Amino acid sequence: MDNRIMQEVLNALAEQRAKNEREEMRRRQEVTAKCPAIGEVMARRQQTVLASIYSAFQLPVEENLEEKVHKWNAEIKLLLKQNGYPEDYLEPVCQCAKCEDTGYVGEGKKVLCDCARNLYAQLLEKGGVFEEEQSFEAYDETIFPETPLPGTDVTQRQYMNVIRRRCEDYANQLPHPAQRTLLLYGGSGLGKTYLLRAIHARARENNVPAICLTANAFLRTAREAYFSRDQQALDALYETELLLIDDLGTEPMLENITVEQLFNLINERQNARLCTVLSTNLTLTELKARYTERVLSRLLDKRNCLALHFLGEDVRLK
Ligand SMILES: [Zn+2]
Repeated sequence: MDNRIMQEVLNALAEQRAKNEREEMRRRQEVTAKCPAIGEVMARRQQTVLASIYSAFQLPVEENLEEKVHKWNAEIKLLLKQNGYPEDYLEPVCQCAKCEDTGYVGEGKKVLCDCARNLYAQLLEKGGVFEEEQSFEAYDETIFPETPLPGTDVTQRQYMNVIRRRCEDYANQLPHPAQRTLLLYGGSGLGKTYLLRAIHARARENNVPAICLTANAFLRTAREAYFSRDQQALDALYETELLLIDDLGTEPMLENITVEQLFNLINERQNARLCTVLSTNLTLTELKARYTERVLSRLLDKRNCLALHFLGEDVRLK
């Protein structure tokens, strides 16, 4: 089996899962706008479940939790039907029901799913590479305009070259960069996700164990860990040498209670001197509003965290 092509299969599946998540969020917003009652039941369900996840480490778990969740699920289905939606409209979206787009099936998810095999065969035939690689090597500075940033004589391209270098230095110093946490923040379409993935690619090249996922996927992992009583997936996020979380702040506001979950993770990783890269479209002020001053000041402590501010105009709009 060609590892490079296999990696592409896994990347494609990860992209698909991210797409599924966006569709799930879109549906949730659509439905709750039309029928706020569904939003209320979902919020109650989420708060209870997540409070249980959070307290599962210390306190007795909420009684009859599964029973309650069952009741709420039925209530949501009924409301969906009454509002002209299919019952399963808010269920997880996936292209392959067998593996839920993970690419693996069976006990411990060890066996490659047919969909992944087919994709592999297709790519092998095409000679692989259907998507440009996101790496420091493939970084193309010319996509950034040569217009000066407002109030400066530095162009967006020059500025991005500095940011890129800081990110590459960080990646090369793994697993022991001077500041273990790296925060990439700024508007959308400025190259944050690209550089986050380039750091991931460099870590893999250098055999630094790394996990990359979206803030949404993290919440899902936390939830699944709770329901399956299987902490392995969540433990992996606490223990991996490098953790990259993309799109912090896009997780639904309903799940605000997970702020605690997310920052437990980040704090524990900081205490264990492990490396974490975060990207967000939020400004520092918005981050503070969302995750509280206390949490942010801890996260952004200058000895532990390098914060890079992405500036300029959205290059995806061109
Ligand atoms: Zn499948």
